[in-house]
Amino acid sequence: MKNRKDSSTPPAEQPSPRATGKRRGLVIVNTGDGKGKTTAALGLLVRAAGRGMRTRLFQFVKRPDTRFGEHVSLEKLEIPHQGLGDGFSWMSRDLDRSRELAAEGWAEAREAIAGGEYDLVVLDEITYPVNWKWIDSEDVLSSLRERPRHVHVVITGRDAPEALLALADTVTEMKKIKHAFEANVPAQKGIEH
Ligand code: ATP
Ligand code: MG
Repeated sequence: MKNRKDSSTPPAEQPSPRATGKRRGLVIVNTGDGKGKTTAALGLLVRAAGRGMRTRLFQFVKRPDTRFGEHVSLEKLEIPHQGLGDGFSWMSRDLDRSRELAAEGWAEAREAIAGGEYDLVVLDEITYPVNWKWIDSEDVLSSLRERPRHVHVVITGRDAPEALLALADTVTEMKKIKHAFEANVPAQKGIEH
């Protein structure tokens, strides 16, 4: 696909021809240092739910009792979600416990992917426990390779491993141009949580 050099006039041609391949479940990765990785995954959950798709969200860093704005909204949409983490690692008192939670959470997520009862499964912030080796990356890759054909999996988190990027169908890097935190603006309800 060629990028238009001149964006000052409306395009006269359709940018890309119609795709002729078969539809199938995708692996979608949202990575990078900018804001929007989790937000975009939540957006896909909303979109898929609107199409009557069965969806589920696993959050690897959030604690099970976390209740952000998105959790209230997901409940209204009857989208199951669960926190599998112990919060931020620098706040955790017991990293062995955090590690155990991540492994248990992954076992559950792996089953949800393999079972085929969901059309879209989000593994939010799973790159962190994978990069810390709390979850075996080979196991994540094989679970993605062997999943039922219709299952879409969305993965978010910074520093997504190369092998995951290679396997994924759609990879987006949220690149930070600016972030309000740097101007000393704290996290806000409805925007960050
Ligand atoms: P969001 O949940 O807002 O889409 P994210 O998933 O892209 O953010 P994470 O790395 O998961 O980003 O961010 C955890 C928290 O840090 C979120 O509250 C997010 O808004 C905030 N954040 C995201 N990017 C940055 C950044 N570049 N600098 C500081 N804070 C950030
Ligand atoms: Mg996030």
